[in-house]
Amino acid sequence: MGLNDSSPGAMRNGRGLSDQWAESVVVRPRTTERHITVHKRLVLGFALSILTLIIVTAVAVVLSVRFEECSEQNGEGAAGESGSRGSGGSSRLNGSKGERNGERGDEEAVQPWRNSRLPGSVRPRHYDLRLAVYMDNFTFSGEVSIELECINATRFIVLHADRLEVDRVSVTAEGGPGGRPSNRPGGGVMRVHRHFSFPANQMYVVVLHRELKPMRLYRLNVSFDAAIEDELLGFFRSSYTLQREKRYLAVTQFSPIHARKAFPCFDEPFYKATFSLTLGHDPQYTSLSNMPVESSSLEDEDGWVTNRFARTPRMSTYYLAWAVCNFTYRETQTDSGVTIRLYARPDAISSGAGDYALHITKRLLGFYQDYFKVQYSLPKLDLLAVPKHPYAAMENWGLSVFVEQKILLDAEVSSSSYQMELTMVVVHEICHQWFGDLVTPMWWEDVWLKEGFAHFFEYVGTDFLFPKWNMEKQRFLTDVLHEVMLVDGLSSSHPISQEVEQATDINRVFDWIAYKKGAALIRMLANVMGQPLFQRGLNDYLLSHMYSNAARDDLWNKLSQAMRSEGRDIDIGEMMDRWTLQMGYPVITITKNQSEQLPTHYITVSQEHFLYGEEVRSNNRFNRSRLQGPKLNSTSHSLQWQVPLTVAVGNTSTMSSERLIWINNRTEMHRIGQMDDSTWLLGNINQTGYFRVNYDLQNWKLLIQQLHHNPEIISVGNRAGLIDDAFNLARAGYLPQGVPLQLIGYLPEETSFLPWHAASRALYQLDKLLDRTEEYSLFSDYVLKQVAARYHQMGWPTNSPGNEGNILQVSYQTEELQRELIMLACSFGNKQCHRQAVAYISDWISSNKNRIPPNIRDIVYCTGVSLMDEDVWEFIWMKFHSTSAVSEKKILLEALTCSDNTFLLNRLLNLSLTSDLVPEQDVIDVIIHVGRNPQGRNLAWKYFREKWDVLNARYGEALFMNSNLISGVTEFLNTEKELNELKEFIQSSGVGAGPALPRALEIVEGNVRWHRLHRRQFYQWLRKPPSPALG
Ligand SMILES: [Zn+2]
Repeated sequence: MGLNDSSPGAMRNGRGLSDQWAESVVVRPRTTERHITVHKRLVLGFALSILTLIIVTAVAVVLSVRFEECSEQNGEGAAGESGSRGSGGSSRLNGSKGERNGERGDEEAVQPWRNSRLPGSVRPRHYDLRLAVYMDNFTFSGEVSIELECINATRFIVLHADRLEVDRVSVTAEGGPGGRPSNRPGGGVMRVHRHFSFPANQMYVVVLHRELKPMRLYRLNVSFDAAIEDELLGFFRSSYTLQREKRYLAVTQFSPIHARKAFPCFDEPFYKATFSLTLGHDPQYTSLSNMPVESSSLEDEDGWVTNRFARTPRMSTYYLAWAVCNFTYRETQTDSGVTIRLYARPDAISSGAGDYALHITKRLLGFYQDYFKVQYSLPKLDLLAVPKHPYAAMENWGLSVFVEQKILLDAEVSSSSYQMELTMVVVHEICHQWFGDLVTPMWWEDVWLKEGFAHFFEYVGTDFLFPKWNMEKQRFLTDVLHEVMLVDGLSSSHPISQEVEQATDINRVFDWIAYKKGAALIRMLANVMGQPLFQRGLNDYLLSHMYSNAARDDLWNKLSQAMRSEGRDIDIGEMMDRWTLQMGYPVITITKNQSEQLPTHYITVSQEHFLYGEEVRSNNRFNRSRLQGPKLNSTSHSLQWQVPLTVAVGNTSTMSSERLIWINNRTEMHRIGQMDDSTWLLGNINQTGYFRVNYDLQNWKLLIQQLHHNPEIISVGNRAGLIDDAFNLARAGYLPQGVPLQLIGYLPEETSFLPWHAASRALYQLDKLLDRTEEYSLFSDYVLKQVAARYHQMGWPTNSPGNEGNILQVSYQTEELQRELIMLACSFGNKQCHRQAVAYISDWISSNKNRIPPNIRDIVYCTGVSLMDEDVWEFIWMKFHSTSAVSEKKILLEALTCSDNTFLLNRLLNLSLTSDLVPEQDVIDVIIHVGRNPQGRNLAWKYFREKWDVLNARYGEALFMNSNLISGVTEFLNTEKELNELKEFIQSSGVGAGPALPRALEIVEGNVRWHRLHRRQFYQWLRKPPSPALG
């Protein structure tokens, strides 16, 4: 009666399965074990049917009485039915629910599986998971035995399962908390009333005849079958070519909610448990998991190998991982005896492409152990390089998985930016072994607690590896702070802690706000606290919550305690709630006091929610509830923050030391030491704070004069910060358009990379707005004028053989500056730069030797393709196919999008989507890069709309990719006509695309507004730039 109501055929989402695979997936594995099982079942079934015949008359009456209720309940649980039930059905349901509540108070009326969260009546303690993996037909079958502790008496065991075909379910009582087995007759078997899946919440429900008792232990056994997915989720397959032979591997991606696609489990981060995994598979494959193999055996007559992995520590389900592949590896050991292995394609391992990552991982484990003062928890750490992955990498405990491009380094052809990116991904994932694996955020609303830390430590950890790169003090500003303030300055942004309930919301929390704003807030806090106290607080936090979960308040408490231990009484929770529960950030305006009554060494400081566009700002003042989470009460009409503002004063030759002022009110007055007419003020020293600073125009004028005469007085970080703030304040309408243009007039004096990088980012933003306007050359000429002198002075890199294989040693700052200048010069149209690029390409074609220095190859390829004829495009296309170095492949592909020829661009777009010539994960990249090409913009925008259904079906769930795509093809739209096209598109097809479309709409509205309000003023300034004072 009601033994199995699930219909997995209907619930399996076949979206990722191409026709080619559909057949093999349906074929179930035929092993000897399976034959025996089937045989046993037949015998048992026969016996049961005879028994049924004998007793059928006796139970007929009972059955007929209970039949109606059962069938109705089964209907509720069955897949596919919940959505199609008509109103008649639902009123019947409500009626019967009311009856049950009223008359019997039946617990079943509660139906805990209808809540999006697990009910919490039982907790898993340990999972014994046995899987047989069939790589011949890409299926697997499994048995999981979960030791459960009952918290509250219940008849229901509700857990997660998605796309699994459940065979058998049984429950036994294990005894008291000590785990004593029950000696009751029947061996402690609990009778299962029924079990069914509830696909709407990806849950599986086991209903028992009798209640489970609190404080007692039980064991739930479930056996199931499933397909190894083609989508990059759950347990999925991937392939690569070795010596012209296609090879397969299968690997897991469980974060955030895909463990349930591989085995029935309590798939919320809070339900930590230990895991013992056993994997059986064909012996030509190797298997890996979080822990080392404990025992290995050749089991059945098929000659299968069975690996039993050691028991894990307590951890969340989404960190469990395994892989079945025929990779090879290199290994090393840390001083404390942790074995680190890097697994990859055999050809990558033998070429040494994994050695760099292996080497830095060893150093990083040591670094983090010293910094956090907590040992790495597992005996080994494997890094697995896979050809396909939905993210750059995933920090599974002891088995971190990376997409090849983020871990394999071919030193001879890789640029330093490729190396830097790769390094940071590794640093990020290793940090997660503590912030994530060891201490896990309680729930997804605070995913930034792990992602913000890992992103912040990318910079701290890279500084440890390469102190000269100055990542945390410099590169952090342009790549994190400036980048995220663009997004967080929109009214479509959201608080960093977001309420998340539905499974579908969970993917959305992994966005730049979580990563980059998280990192920026942590950096601000670390600077307010000072490193020793910050470190002490983190140590205490990790020790207190290891092998467990933590919420943001747990962190704030530990950090406040660390502060109090030094007599500094700051309520960090109160301060940080302002930053984490409210969206956006303030613009702090500092003005020298103009009042007659007060002496001039007072300043007025005010704060205001920074938003792009005056109209947006006035609308938002009356819309406060949307801007902040419900947990924060504020009486004012717009947002306010507790701002740690550092200020210094300076004049032509010196700058005072900084002092910290807390700004809690909308407007405050502060005493600031001696000032006269030539003294300037500078706020947010070294840009450690997460806010923008504006000044009165006289102060901007003094700062600009200072930069022209002696920029070094102001720190590199603040020079970059002034540039970014000025451009964005002007764009948002807080400053006249001429101020940032006047400011970058000092760039010919600038010798450091970072301010150039900040300027170049701001200029490319403007370029997207302007490059289809008539007066564009006024802008590009002005940029080239700033660039020319430094570009000619720095010249082009030489390709001396001494550099080969030694890119770690070259001066990163110089190389990056040289690269930045070449990029600006070539893309804004410097003739000499064009000639040089063309000469390099011609030399490559005629000699078939690539003598282009790796660090600037992308610029040269792109410039060559855009200026030269179709043969060059074909040449690059051919090289794209023949190269095996992943970094080189990527920039060759991107270069193909630089062509002026829309016929070629169209061909490329079509080829990437419809053939397998372009790797699937690079398709989005191709479309975005076509959109970056001014000649390709209309094409990319049109193509995106035409192919949206295909793209959304393929990448819709990978929201990061999806939102990059949407912003990539819309951010340059800036006419009323294009705005209307976007609105039409959103109306007709934009349902369910997440927050990316509303954000795109706001950006395009901002672009149109900027043209309407500011373009004239902007070009007017360029036609007659006042010099040197402000206009
Ligand atoms: Zn991460």
